[in-house]
Amino acid sequence: MHVKTWFAIPLWKRVIAALIFGVIAGIVWGPGAESIKIVGDVFIAFIKMLVVPLILLSIVSGVASIGDLRKLGAVGWRALLLFVVTSQFAVWLGLALGSVFGPGIGVDTSAIAVGQPPAPNETTWREMVLGMIPQSPVQVMADANVLPLIIFALLVGIGIVMAAEEGGPLARIFDSGAVVMQKVTIVVMELTPFGVFSLMAWVAGTLGHDALFALAKLVALNYLGCLLIIGVVYVSLIHFVSKLPVTDFFRGMVDAMAVAYSTASSNATLPVTLRCTQRNLGVRPSTSSFIVSLGATINMDGTAMYLGLATLFGAQIFGVSLDFGDYVMISVLATVGSIGAAGIPGAGLIMMALVFGAVGVPLETIAFVAGVDRIMDMMRTATNVTGDGTVTVTVASLVNEIDRAEMISADDV
Ligand code: ASP
Repeated sequence: MHVKTWFAIPLWKRVIAALIFGVIAGIVWGPGAESIKIVGDVFIAFIKMLVVPLILLSIVSGVASIGDLRKLGAVGWRALLLFVVTSQFAVWLGLALGSVFGPGIGVDTSAIAVGQPPAPNETTWREMVLGMIPQSPVQVMADANVLPLIIFALLVGIGIVMAAEEGGPLARIFDSGAVVMQKVTIVVMELTPFGVFSLMAWVAGTLGHDALFALAKLVALNYLGCLLIIGVVYVSLIHFVSKLPVTDFFRGMVDAMAVAYSTASSNATLPVTLRCTQRNLGVRPSTSSFIVSLGATINMDGTAMYLGLATLFGAQIFGVSLDFGDYVMISVLATVGSIGAAGIPGAGLIMMALVFGAVGVPLETIAFVAGVDRIMDMMRTATNVTGDGTVTVTVASLVNEIDRAEMISADDV
């Protein structure tokens, strides 16, 4: 294909095509498709490269340009409220799907290739709180530790606002850095079709089919739950609260959704989500950098739904009976777990230990689902990232930080 023709096709169409052809290639090729996974790994490594500088530069420049700390508060509490309300809805949806359809009832566990359970997460809440404090900002950046980095960037931004005129030169440096990083993002995003193709081929080619059939009901319910969250909760927020055209929202977000689906990592998708909300959906960078970065680490509705569903699945295969009090406990812990889960592949699987332990569901359940976790993780992550986009446009509409005319038709993207 001629280079010009390639670039004439909008990126999102190339990405969708890569996703479809990747799956086909994986099915035809089988486990050998693993050999091209390196292309996807290179792509992920490049987008990971963007995360730390993008968060630092865009949050500092964003907060400094809001200029008014009350406005920052107005954006912050609305976003947090929406994060919590949507994840509560998600967990209860997972619990409802799990009890109505009983995915664990009648599962023949001998048919399932038991995977390796991940090491349990033994962090106490004290360690979690301390871990959010950017004790050494340089270390935090070196480790790409997103939550303390956001806190550091917020504080620097606030410091610049407080320093008023004297903070001006530093603010301009961060502004210029943020613009430069956005350009670097555009370059890296051109790798998306190749990365998505190879990751999809790898997943489709190496998936354990036996386990997939035995766990088909769980996998199907995971997809159904995620689709309901996107189709009901997010669509309602976009239509009724933001009052934005739903199709334009999805066209603007499709790159981020495809990258989330193929990489199974909200963190790795962050640069793409930032670009989609700013460039395609017209949200002011100051607002979007704050909400999207925060959302990528703490707003995970797909994960929250899955934690509810998987707990019931484990209870069903092991015959543990749960009462309403247990359900309430699950709803609280699944929300906490989805906040605490890092935006990386398989994070939801690790958080299961937190919920299971509290209601007496055997941790062996984790090993049963580990083999097919990736395929569910992909959909959870796409949901998590769509949720970040939804909360961003919703809050931006409420505080008038969105330029509706900017919400360009995706054909130009
Ligand atoms: N992989 C998901 C994410 O990055 C988290 C999960 O495992 O559910 O959003």
